[in-house]
Amino acid sequence: MRLILVGGGLANSLIAHRLSAMRPDVDWTILEAGDELGGNHTWSFHAGDLTPDQQGWMDPFVSARWPGYAVAFPGLDRSLPLGYRSASAERMRAVMAVHADRVRTGAAVSALRPDGVTLASGEEIRADAVIDGRGYRPSPHLQVAFQKFYGIEVRTAVPHGQADPIIMDATVPQRDGFRFVYTLPFAADRVLIEDTYYSDGLDVDQGALRALTLDYARRRGWDVAEVLRDEAGVLPIALGGDIERFWDDGPGVARSGLRAALFHPTTGYSLPDAVRLADRVAALSDLGAANLHRETRAHSVQCWKDAGFYRLLDRLLFKAAEPDRRYSLIERFYHFSPDLVSRFYAGRSTLYDKARVLTGKPPVPIFRALRCLREPTTLATAP
Ligand SMILES: Cc1cc2nc3c(=O)[nH]c(=O)nc-3n(C[C@H](O)[C@H](O)[C@H](O)COP(=O)(O)OP(=O)(O)OC[C@H]3O[C@@H](n4cnc5c(N)ncnc54)[C@H](O)[C@@H]3O)c2cc1C
Repeated sequence: MRLILVGGGLANSLIAHRLSAMRPDVDWTILEAGDELGGNHTWSFHAGDLTPDQQGWMDPFVSARWPGYAVAFPGLDRSLPLGYRSASAERMRAVMAVHADRVRTGAAVSALRPDGVTLASGEEIRADAVIDGRGYRPSPHLQVAFQKFYGIEVRTAVPHGQADPIIMDATVPQRDGFRFVYTLPFAADRVLIEDTYYSDGLDVDQGALRALTLDYARRRGWDVAEVLRDEAGVLPIALGGDIERFWDDGPGVARSGLRAALFHPTTGYSLPDAVRLADRVAALSDLGAANLHRETRAHSVQCWKDAGFYRLLDRLLFKAAEPDRRYSLIERFYHFSPDLVSRFYAGRSTLYDKARVLTGKPPVPIFRALRCLREPTTLATAP
């Protein structure tokens, strides 16, 4: 059984790792266009996003773990006793190093078929099945807004004194939509500072955002001795769409990760979805092209359908709330119990959770909120 995984990012690397453990008979190869697996990423997630079993097999990928995290808003300062984790691309490469002979880097794929691929070099490779994990691609069938950010990881001259992540510090001046700063303390003198926006525009002025992150460090009293690395991202936030047409628009090849629209609609984060898909793929008895396409499509469609509540919240955030008041919706959310917050991030909100989040004094104008109820299925604005 020969399987080609196109794209050596998060989703396909986890599938490969899981297949090696569960299906050693599968001869998989990763074809990655870049010069290494995983790129320049830190993938964070909430411990509660994964089952105990998934936490167990993901453990080797985890580079940092914290027992809780905090959020800060103009009217709320709160610590939540919910575990938080980060997996780094560097750690992923170390875990995947045992499979070095099954990973081809510098291998850009120019065409995919259910039973093979063509590389940009013209080389043809045949297989029993192919999984397309080439990351996010805009689609006319998915309506998305964006979370954009720029971050720097810094070494501080003296210990910074922050023990746990602050996943949203929205006490910073609001600009360009909902703005918050996200900080992950990796060591006593090492911290990632990310300036993040839920905004209507896509521009990321890295120079300006770098100055803002350094300014934030100063405001926190941190003396930055060295900037170790930086990262920038623009993640899709789902507002609506037609998931069946999204899948119809393709050559019948199985997909993974963002290519399969597998991300949390409100955060754009995809690690928990990638873990679940890896488990599902590794449990299949038939890994032939037709079944793999059917299964990955069915999984993606079901996840999309189950996530309608989160897309409604996203529409309220982006289409009903005034950009500089968006933070108030999120601030209100963080008053709820840690269990409700945990289920929200895991994509497992109960009916009761949904009712609690949607009822009460709405922090958005009611008429605009009503206009958000119906889910759009076509692209209103180009991304
Ligand atoms: C800077 C940044 C930070 C993020 N932080 C988090 C986070 O903390 N937590 C979280 O859950 N999510 C996070 N995300 C969102 C999301 O989880 C990641 O984008 C994740 O890497 C998506 O996984 P993927 O496998 O779908 O795609 P990717 O990991 O992007 O992998 C796609 C791979 O395909 C390769 N590729 C593309 N085209 C070709 C081709 N033609 N031929 C061969 N290879 C190709 C690319 O080089 C890439 O390596 C972050 C995203 C970014 C950009």
